[in-house]
Amino acid sequence: MEKGNISVQTENIFPIIKKFLYSEQEIFLRELVSNAVDATNKLKVLSNKGEFKGELGDLTIDIILSKEDKTITIRDRGIGMSAEEVKKYLNQVAFSSASEFLEKYKEDSGIIGHFGLGFYSAFMVAEKVEVVTRSYKEKESAVIWSCTGDPSYTLEETEKDDRGTDIILHIGEDGEEYLEKDTLEKLLYKYCGFLPIPIRFGKKEEQETVGEGEDAKTITKEVDHIINNPNPLWKKNPNDIEDKDYTDFYSELYPFGQPPLFWIHLNIDYPFNLNGILYFPRLENAMVEPEKNKIKLYSNQVYVTDDVSNILPPFLMHLHGVIDSPDIPLNVSRSYLQGDQNVRKITGYITKKVADKLKELFNADRKEFESKWDQFGIFVKYGMITEEKFYDKALSFALLKNTEGKYHTLEEHKTETKETQTDKNDMLTLLYASNVKGQNSFIKSATDRGYQVLVMDQVIDNHFVQHLEHKNSDFRFKRVDADTIDNLIDKDEKIDSVLDEKEEARLKEMFEEEIKSNSGLNLEMKALTPNDKPVVIVRPEFLRRMQEMQAMQGVNTGMGDMSNVVVNTNHPIFSQKLLKMRSAEKKKQLVQTLFDLARLNQNMLTGEELDNFVNRNLELLQ
Ligand code: ADP
Repeated sequence: MEKGNISVQTENIFPIIKKFLYSEQEIFLRELVSNAVDATNKLKVLSNKGEFKGELGDLTIDIILSKEDKTITIRDRGIGMSAEEVKKYLNQVAFSSASEFLEKYKEDSGIIGHFGLGFYSAFMVAEKVEVVTRSYKEKESAVIWSCTGDPSYTLEETEKDDRGTDIILHIGEDGEEYLEKDTLEKLLYKYCGFLPIPIRFGKKEEQETVGEGEDAKTITKEVDHIINNPNPLWKKNPNDIEDKDYTDFYSELYPFGQPPLFWIHLNIDYPFNLNGILYFPRLENAMVEPEKNKIKLYSNQVYVTDDVSNILPPFLMHLHGVIDSPDIPLNVSRSYLQGDQNVRKITGYITKKVADKLKELFNADRKEFESKWDQFGIFVKYGMITEEKFYDKALSFALLKNTEGKYHTLEEHKTETKETQTDKNDMLTLLYASNVKGQNSFIKSATDRGYQVLVMDQVIDNHFVQHLEHKNSDFRFKRVDADTIDNLIDKDEKIDSVLDEKEEARLKEMFEEEIKSNSGLNLEMKALTPNDKPVVIVRPEFLRRMQEMQAMQGVNTGMGDMSNVVVNTNHPIFSQKLLKMRSAEKKKQLVQTLFDLARLNQNMLTGEELDNFVNRNLELLQ
């Protein structure tokens, strides 16, 4: 038997491995199974080249759990190692790469992926590791290498029938949880679910119906429990894939998810290698921000992380799916990733691909695109706000919906409204509603005039409106309740008031008296048409936006919290009723009711005031 020390270096890395990487402990499984896959693939390559002439046979990798012996064994039928190779690869290569990795890790605690620790990650969970291995080369004999987590090891010849390697982990206290079948199985699914070589985890029971008709019965069979799908969809040629394959794969990834709206298959091999499928999820509720971190990142089918924040622009992080690229550097820190040229190229490329695909869908079937817009438009808007390049591309397919349920691109909408909605200063005003029900009467006045009102009722729409204005100077937005209908789009069509100065002053006085206890309300006397409402409350666009912005930042100076009470001096109720009334009490009552009705229309009448309003009206009915 040969005994030795792994390295002349005195520093012992095992305690460091255990301590530093504790939070990432579970990756030992990925590292060891990846090694088994590599060893198997190497043998396949040798066989293809004719350098290995034997039978490849069944190359399935086994994960064998023995709770009794407290061991987990990873068994492959790959190239195996000779005694010399064990010394070289496990004592030197593996050790030096682990040391190098830890050296890096010590300096920068934000490492992602943790690729590179490799074989030595076994010591995060094992108190002793045995490697029983036999090279594919006939002349080499099998050896067993054993190490208990200090730098000394033993190496001796042993018996092993088959070529390949068994890594036997004698699980220590630190890793006891991995001796639970369910825990281990979950980890295998997580890290090894799409590895390219079949991974078997014991047996499982499967139900099968045999016989026909009355003789049919269900029997339970024991079958191999294969963990992974070695040929994941993202690796296949998009031309060979049908829609059903994509939706099936989606259910494989998210068993409880609603079917996706559509998907984008990324298939890039130049200037870097990247495959993946990004799904646009169906949002249950367009008001809610979609979940983040549902995309899984792989490197050569090995699971790395579900945090793709360094690789994808923020708006795409809300999509679902997988990305697989061996060209994303993984054993580096986050800050490095962000600055990395290659990664930035990848980010830009994915963004472009997504835009191209959306454009393609738009061109291919606009009706279909429109029918899904309410559900995925939020991603597009988010992208337009946050990514300059995406904005430029998205302008040609991003849609605006109006209150009639029609969809237009910005250009189309501008063309449609140019004639009717341009004001006296030649400025085009685009109208929108943030709450179709709540702003119903304002919407109606606008559409009665032949204006179009856009529906902007998603969380993101405030920003979206601002952003479109910021990027364009040939129009501006106004919410339908920002002003009375004549002033919303001011065309300089003055209407004379039917009241004389004195009458108007009396009217004004009555309303001043009525609203004085409400802070934040301005009174405005205006000659509208007799058909307009007698009193309207409007919320000036600028002030309202300021208030919304303040609310978002969590401050409220009260500055923007202002509305205008507009009294329509041309409404017959004033000239023909109010101003002719004698009883001061009756006058007060009418003013009060008109004011309350205006408040009701703006959802401003609540609580006790609403109750009083209802009671007063009930009394009048008796
Ligand atoms: P890496 O895989 O990054 O090279 P590791 O520390 O994981 O680093 O492994 C070191 C070396 O040990 C590998 O390069 C490989 O040559 C050898 N090795 C590890 N596991 C196996 C295995 N299951 N079969 C054959 N060789 C292996």
